[in-house]
Amino acid sequence: MAILCRLHTAFGDRYIQAIREALPGEDIREWPDVGNPEDIEIACIFRSPPGFLTPFKNLKLISSTGAGVDTLVLDPEFPRHIPLVRVVDEDFGNRMAEYAATWVMFHHRDLPHFLAAQKESRWAYKTMRSAREVKVGVMGLGQMGAAAAQLLSRIGYDAAGWSRSAKSIEGVTCFSGADGLDAFLARSEIVVNLLPLTDETRGILNAGLFAKMPKGGVVISAGRGAHLVEEDLLAALASGQLRGATLDVFTKEPLPQDHPFWTTPGLFVTPHASSTASLETSVNAFAENVRRYRAGEPLLNVVDLSRGY
Ligand code: NAP
Repeated sequence: MAILCRLHTAFGDRYIQAIREALPGEDIREWPDVGNPEDIEIACIFRSPPGFLTPFKNLKLISSTGAGVDTLVLDPEFPRHIPLVRVVDEDFGNRMAEYAATWVMFHHRDLPHFLAAQKESRWAYKTMRSAREVKVGVMGLGQMGAAAAQLLSRIGYDAAGWSRSAKSIEGVTCFSGADGLDAFLARSEIVVNLLPLTDETRGILNAGLFAKMPKGGVVISAGRGAHLVEEDLLAALASGQLRGATLDVFTKEPLPQDHPFWTTPGLFVTPHASSTASLETSVNAFAENVRRYRAGEPLLNVVDLSRGY
């Protein structure tokens, strides 16, 4: 029985080579050279089009090379009886925390003001509040969100977080559940979205949510594009309800060249580049779960399909 890999292209051929080295003796096939689909017992995939897994009738284990599993779990044809594992790793979360901290500081220290002034050779002095006076809120307190909230707190921000279940994180004021959302938003002038995309969180970044934040707030999103109602963000920036935003994820990626996000004042775009697991992390996580599967041991980082993340 064979392993099918359909991998992130970021690492090129090194990725499949590393998997072959980590799993000697395994029959490893790289998509699209599948051979007989009935041979495939394990799939290692980075996202995949709807129905991609349907032909593999003998699948027993699915491994996502990323953290977000929405493209798999929200696919109506996803084989829900088969365990799905994903990558959870400290360095992966730390990379996201660096992204969140970079953009929180960018907006808090008003770099757009200084960059615009320099373009005009203009000396545009401005006083700054210290981080402890700035209330930042992180939506989602999993491997990405908890790392981000903790780093923001260590930098000195007045950091809060919001999750589904109640949490206790040192230095972070924790809110939870639908009941906790309004109080979380009311105190968070900079909101960082690190939620997974589920039926519950789709469209959560909308006009209603922006209106519950203090006026002149900032939204940073590296969750998924479909969390955001795009026209609501544009309207909130135009009205001044939000003074800034940074987006790493989009409904359509790459972001089309004629999309208004590229040119909206106060809006900053990064190309889904906030955090990627290293090649080593990704390969080791997969190889360890293959070893466990072969040995009949419990798998690591199994996705709860009933929650959708
Ligand atoms: P995770 O470990 O599963 O954590 C998800 C967090 O969101 C948990 O704290 C969870 O609450 C909370 N949550 C889920 N549904 C919620 C709801 N309805 N209301 C309130 N809180 C809710 O996920 P992760 O590994 O941190 O990743 C989060 C997301 O980041 C991924 O799904 C992916 O979309 C995105 N991501 C993006 C990039 C990028 O490059 N842009 C890279 C990696 C990940 P509980 O703790 O109570 O369960």
